[in-house]
Amino acid sequence: MSHPHPELSEPGELAAGALRVIPLGGLGEVGRNMTVFEYDGRLLVVDCGVLFPEDQQPGVDLILPDFSAIRDRLDAIEALVLTHGHEDHIGATPYLLRERGDIPLVGSKLTLALVNSKLREHRLRETVKHEVTEGMRLSFGPFDLEFVAVNHSIPDALAVAIRTPAGMVLHTGDFKMDQLPLDGRITDLRAFARLGEEGVDLFLTDSTNAEVPGFTVSERKITPAIEQVFRESEQRIIVACFASHVHRVQQILDSAVKHGRKVGYVGRSMVRNMQIASELGYLDVPEGVIVDAKQLADLAPEKQVLISTGSQGEPMSALSRIANGTHNFVHIEPGDTVLLASSLIPGNENAVYRVINGLARLGAKVVHKGNALVHVSGHASAGELLYCYNVVRPANVMPVHGEIRHLLANGDLAKLVGIENVVIAEDGVVVDLVDGVASVAGKVECGYVFVDGATVGDVTESELKDRRILGEEGFVSIIIVVDSVSGKVSAGPEIHARGHAWEAGDFDRIRQPIVDAVNRAIAEGATDTYQLQQAVRRTFGRWVSDKMRRRPMIIPVVIEA
Ligand SMILES: [Zn+2]
Ligand SMILES: [Zn+2]
Repeated sequence: MSHPHPELSEPGELAAGALRVIPLGGLGEVGRNMTVFEYDGRLLVVDCGVLFPEDQQPGVDLILPDFSAIRDRLDAIEALVLTHGHEDHIGATPYLLRERGDIPLVGSKLTLALVNSKLREHRLRETVKHEVTEGMRLSFGPFDLEFVAVNHSIPDALAVAIRTPAGMVLHTGDFKMDQLPLDGRITDLRAFARLGEEGVDLFLTDSTNAEVPGFTVSERKITPAIEQVFRESEQRIIVACFASHVHRVQQILDSAVKHGRKVGYVGRSMVRNMQIASELGYLDVPEGVIVDAKQLADLAPEKQVLISTGSQGEPMSALSRIANGTHNFVHIEPGDTVLLASSLIPGNENAVYRVINGLARLGAKVVHKGNALVHVSGHASAGELLYCYNVVRPANVMPVHGEIRHLLANGDLAKLVGIENVVIAEDGVVVDLVDGVASVAGKVECGYVFVDGATVGDVTESELKDRRILGEEGFVSIIIVVDSVSGKVSAGPEIHARGHAWEAGDFDRIRQPIVDAVNRAIAEGATDTYQLQQAVRRTFGRWVSDKMRRRPMIIPVVIEA
């Protein structure tokens, strides 16, 4: 874990009448959001998302929140509230439900529809769902919930106010304050103000853009850049965006209709999500504009628009395959235009530029955030956060959703407007609200849980270290035979290397030192093969590091014959 907080110990028993907040993901990173609220032995969970792995986590598909701290109390969970349908908020839900299938899920219509298709993929059918809308109040055990509309880069996002006998919590979820959103649904500041009047004891606020001064630009501001692409493009247009960005897709559909083009969706999650969004009425699809992506190719290039997944350069995504020429039916022709209508999530830069270069090499014109206003963020900037603090006037603030620098910047904003009690906590750091005052109470275990293929939690950090060594430094096996009668090396060492450009003869100089080291170890009384293998590993490891400046994975094999 990147932030172990060695100074903290396990929290003591929760004081009677107090509320405990246990963040199990999303604080100290952008992803896998999950926060547990505890009152009188009962638990309420807000969000259960995934984190996508980085280059240093080879072979990992997903990273989950760590359920360890609540695993033996799953029966105490009253409900799981899902603030909106982004993967970093709903993606780990199937994994939690695998451990207890009847946890009630609470969310808006679109959020529940998106999580439902995920649950079906995991063959979880017997789930309990409560669909809610803004303005609704609903109680689960000691938690009295009220939902508030917030504006974000996906429709139907909600903030949640949690009234408990210990006080009221207001959790913004992900939000921004676009005053002219495409669907007209703004963040309900009047409700924020009303809750503030009643008294918000603890305010959990989205920190993602806390370092960005000013206000996040309206979604409408990118329409001119999209229009320009449609006006100037004489051939096919391929747009890549998040598979959940319904409003962005709406803008593309509108432009396509205006310019007489037809649209096809590429990528499984894009096809599935847009079908859900149009069935539920979140996406307004004009008659006849959508065509099966494979049939789209029958039209003239200037009549085609493809909307694709892969805007973050994900290696298996449709756009990556298109960029490296391996997509099964979309092939770039010189003169095509590719529009990347997305932000660059930190850590994905290399992958995204790889895709842009691949597309450009094939002759496409690539329009992206670096050369046009084709994306705006889904999160509130510093100016919007200041407004919220002034409107809500909470007693305590706990920044959520961000790396430590984002959390600290958000905390500074709260202090700037005179809120004195700001609690900075990263994953696993427990915060108690006692008599209206929030403070750190200790920490619980909270590591990374890796999903790799069908396994959950089996891959550990030490195996990832092995994978990194294999990836960067390659692999060397050294086989040596020891005569069990004479106690001397009788054959070998035979040295095989992979993954690094070794020259023929590189290993000649180290063969005799290995033989000498093994013979010496036997003479000094080494009896089992493990000790002899260690002698081989040490001798070769020192040489390869000193002389060749390499640290490959070394697999010594000593055979007694
Ligand atoms: Zn979000
Ligand atoms: Zn998020």
